[in-house]
Amino acid sequence: MSVSYIDFKDVDISKYKAIVVGSGFAGAVSARQLAEKCNCKVLVLEKRSHIGGNMYDEYDDAGILVHRYGPHIFHTNDSKVFNYLRQFTGWIGYQHHVLADWYGTYIPVPFNKNSMETVFGEERAAELIQKLIDVFGDERKVTINELREQRDQDLVEIADFVYKNVFLYYTQKQWGQTPDQVDPSVTARVPVFISRDNRYFQDTYQGMPASGYTDLFEKMLDFEGIDICLNTDATSVFELVFQGGEEDSALSAIKVKDEVFTGPIVYSGPLDELFLGRFGRLPYRSLNFVYETFDEEYKFPCGTVNYTVSQDYTRITEFKHLTGQTAPNTTIMKEYSCEYTDPETQIPYYAIINEENNAHYQRYRKMTESLSNFFPLGRLAEYRYYNMDKIIGLALELSEEIAAKMDNGDFNAKESV
Ligand code: FAD
Ligand code: UDP
Repeated sequence: MSVSYIDFKDVDISKYKAIVVGSGFAGAVSARQLAEKCNCKVLVLEKRSHIGGNMYDEYDDAGILVHRYGPHIFHTNDSKVFNYLRQFTGWIGYQHHVLADWYGTYIPVPFNKNSMETVFGEERAAELIQKLIDVFGDERKVTINELREQRDQDLVEIADFVYKNVFLYYTQKQWGQTPDQVDPSVTARVPVFISRDNRYFQDTYQGMPASGYTDLFEKMLDFEGIDICLNTDATSVFELVFQGGEEDSALSAIKVKDEVFTGPIVYSGPLDELFLGRFGRLPYRSLNFVYETFDEEYKFPCGTVNYTVSQDYTRITEFKHLTGQTAPNTTIMKEYSCEYTDPETQIPYYAIINEENNAHYQRYRKMTESLSNFFPLGRLAEYRYYNMDKIIGLALELSEEIAAKMDNGDFNAKESV
């Protein structure tokens, strides 16, 4: 078999028991699980010209496998999630390494014992490492915020260094804000690690799909009952029906092709877009990617180099380190972060998590709560900073919940319109 693509104009909506918006991991896992567990037809609407969401990869003109929406390295401690993915693909056991370019010298990130020896010299580093171990314990991860709360002069010296040389400029480029201004959960993703372990992640399962992510998505979505409409924006094919005429009236139904759709709708797009931004657009950061190919085997010593004190891009990724591809040439990608101002031409990559934006999101979320067949899921629809494994786990849980409701006949009755 192969993935079934269909033109939206040819869709007979009465044939479908579920609709899934988006074909990233939130959408693709949900579509596959619903089709398989409920033995029903599922219609996937995807506004891009391809499946796979941000994980989409393809061979560039130089023959190098590249990621088109940012570098994606799979890592998880969740065996259920990893075992689920294993049915669709083999894996390359890749362990991600990141180096910061510190005025031309490479230091491991997360900042660790090895980084300390490079920047402080062996003797001073030994004293500082001992202090870290005395206060926090060996092999411990400490967030930059925790470290900055310390009053001990040695710890203040480390905290100041790491703040200024690892976090400050990178975070300003990435978020347009200082590390003090971004939500603590953001910088906590990259702790100071009291260890010699130079890997970026310490999860039990780490790697890259052996034939790439797009291939993985094709295998997941190549299943009887799943039809996919590419280049189809749900916001232009959904007709929203509200309980009243006020701006914040709750949703009472969604019509597709003039019919109220009573089956489950899993929605993984931005929630504000669904409502055409009626309460104002939710803030996101977007990215621009610039690729360069070189006629040499490798350009950099590891998968990603972070520019923490120089350059206007945040990081460079060299894909061959990630994918294990062998070739005489190599492609690298620079990431430039920018404000998200135009949904027509830009992609909302990162939700900007803070109390105000979360409350803004909740205004949209509240409007959907009245609609029992509508399920927002994913990085965009939930306005969260999720890694891939988290989304896959949530999609597996949600599809089980929906399958149980389908078994109960919960979706059969037409809601009053
Ligand atoms: P997406 O992958 O964004 O998929 C959403 C899909 O919905 C898209 O295909 C979109 O086109 C479609 N869509 C949106 N609106 C509509 C609409 N109205 N109608 C139809 N279709 C619509 N995670 C990791 O675990 N490891 C990493 O190394 C990693 N690196 C990352 C690097 C970057 C630069 C970024 C931004 C994220 C990274 N992530 C990583 C996180 C990962 O991208 C997300 O966890 C994952 O994309 C979430 O899947 P999703 O399905 O929720 O969203
Ligand atoms: N960060 C930083 N310097 C680094 C790496 C990370 O300041 O060298 C901060 C920055 O604010 C970034 C956050 O930590 O946005 C999370 O980093 P991560 O690598 O997890 O970001 P992602 O891969 O999700 O873009």
